[in-house]
Amino acid sequence: MRFPALRALPLASLLAFSLSPSHARAQASAITLTPAVVEAGSPELIRVDAPATASLDGEWLGRKLQFFRSRDSRAWYALAGVDVEAAPGPSTIKITVQSGGGVANALEKEVAIHPAHYKSGSLTVPPKFVEPGPEELKQIEADSELKAKVFAASAAEPLWAGSFRAPVTAAPTDSFGTRRMFNGKLASVHKGMDFRAPSGTVVRAGNSGVVVLARPLYYEGNCVIVDHGLGLYTISMHFSRIDVKEGQRVAQGQPLGLSGATGRVTGPHLHWAVRWQGAYLDPAKLLKLNLASLR
Ligand SMILES: [Zn+2]
Repeated sequence: MRFPALRALPLASLLAFSLSPSHARAQASAITLTPAVVEAGSPELIRVDAPATASLDGEWLGRKLQFFRSRDSRAWYALAGVDVEAAPGPSTIKITVQSGGGVANALEKEVAIHPAHYKSGSLTVPPKFVEPGPEELKQIEADSELKAKVFAASAAEPLWAGSFRAPVTAAPTDSFGTRRMFNGKLASVHKGMDFRAPSGTVVRAGNSGVVVLARPLYYEGNCVIVDHGLGLYTISMHFSRIDVKEGQRVAQGQPLGLSGATGRVTGPHLHWAVRWQGAYLDPAKLLKLNLASLR
C-alpha cells in the first residue's frame, strides 16, 4: 500500500508538468459517479478529472466531500454516498477546484436521487429495548455521546486499500433499508446488513483502518467500529467476543472478534453497517464497488 503511493508522487508531478493550461481546464469539467444510477442508500464513487497539483473541496446534500488522488494519479476521487433515508428528487454536487496559480474553478453536477424499494417488516425483542427504563436511558445517552465523538474524528486521509470484502462468509440478507416495527410500537429503519452468522463466527475487517470503538453498547451489544478515513466507517454489532483494542490498526481480513447475540437482537447474527459523514449506506453496494486501482 505504501510503495504504490510513493511511486505515484513523481508520476503526478510529471503529469501536471505536461498539461497545458487549456488541457487542464478541459479535464476539470468532468465529474463521474459510480454507480451511475443514484438511489437512497447508494455509496457513490465520485471521480473528478483535475490536475494533480489542484486542491479540491466539495459538498453534496449538506455533507463535505473530501478528495484523494488515485494511485495511478489519473484523477481525484471521493468515496461518498446518499443516506438510506434521503428523499428522492434532484440534488447538486458542488466542487471547487483550486489550481496552483490561485485560479478557482467551480464545478456543478445535477444528480437525481431515485427511490430504493426497501421492504418493511416487524419483529419482537425484549421490552427493555423498546421502552428502556431510566438506568438504561442513561447508558443509551452515554453511548450516543461516545459515538458522536468517534464519528467526529475520522482520519484526514483514506486508510482503506482496494475493494471492501464481506466481514464473514455467512449468507447476507437483503435487510438493509427495511422499515421495521419493534414489538408493534417502535418504527425504525434498518441501517445495516444482517449476515446469518452463528455465534462464534470470526468477523473480519472489511478493509484496512483503525479501530476507534471496541466495547459493549446498549443497543449494539459488543460493538467494533473501524475508521477507514475521510468520514467512512464500518460498524459491526452483537459480538460474543471482541478481539481488538481501540486505537489498533487493522488490515483487511484481520479478525475483529466473534459474532454473537448481544444487544437488541432476536437471535445470533452479524449486523454490519457502513457510515459516511453521518449517512448510512448499503453495504451490499459498497462490496460491489471496484476500488482496486484507486489505492
Ligand atoms: Zn441488523
